[in-house]
Amino acid sequence: MTQYPLGQIVIQRIVESICTAFDPLSFFPETTPDDWARHRTWMEPRALDPVSGNLVLPIQAFLVRTRRHTILIDTCVGHDKSRPQWLFWHMKKFDTFLPRLAAAGVRPEDVDYVMCTHLHSDHVGWNTQLRDGRWVPTFPNTKYIFARSEWEGFEALHRKHPQPQFLDSVLPIMEARQAELVSGDFALDDEVWLEPTPGHTPGHVCVHLASQGSEAVITGDCIHSPVQCVEPEWIMRADFDPTLARTTRRSFLERYCDSSVMVYATHFPEPSTGRIIQRDKAFWFEYERIEG
Ligand SMILES: [Zn+2]
Repeated sequence: MTQYPLGQIVIQRIVESICTAFDPLSFFPETTPDDWARHRTWMEPRALDPVSGNLVLPIQAFLVRTRRHTILIDTCVGHDKSRPQWLFWHMKKFDTFLPRLAAAGVRPEDVDYVMCTHLHSDHVGWNTQLRDGRWVPTFPNTKYIFARSEWEGFEALHRKHPQPQFLDSVLPIMEARQAELVSGDFALDDEVWLEPTPGHTPGHVCVHLASQGSEAVITGDCIHSPVQCVEPEWIMRADFDPTLARTTRRSFLERYCDSSVMVYATHFPEPSTGRIIQRDKAFWFEYERIEG
């Protein structure tokens, strides 16, 4: 498993699965076949599966080890979760996540913080596990960091339309008193802080990392696919506030374009890391080389 050093921080991807269930026209509902004709060639095979024609989207967490803390950014889909709206995640068992975390040398009890970029089902799943018929925190010694505006947004949504992932993967963390609700620009310390990036969800955040002059940002879902670097206006089907999502994505791309900040893009295909550069008057994602 590749380790990406960032000053005195080490970042590792913990991949739960590679999802190829979404066809691009329904994932980006305002796009047309003509739109995709412009991008299919460069998107295939890495970001668009040539066989099914569907998007290639890793479902993954980032393990971040600083000198002080062991942190997990997002927690994928998880086990036994009832997700009737997403049949490919419904009641699944992914025997990948905890073993890969173990292979990286981390047991659940070693995790100090879980930070969820947002509260969708592919980002909160391993927050909890089913034990004796109850959802309990997977990570017993962990503070789970949620942005307060995200929590409040989903609490309101849940009251109107029950949100299964809120019920089984977020509320039990509150009940176990392991949640900490924070502002969208919360800083854990001078190496790890949140960046408010609302739009995909009400209180979505990115996670910024810095050590010894090197910086990185973990995107969560403020951008889903490298095609949105070229087409930042394309909204994703689940974007809660499409106008705000567009504005946030564009300012994210402008902020990091041609900078030295490494971007870890949660749903971008292998190796999911690289830099945003300007190419032909558009943004472009330049992947880091795949190592070993
Ligand atoms: Zn996602």
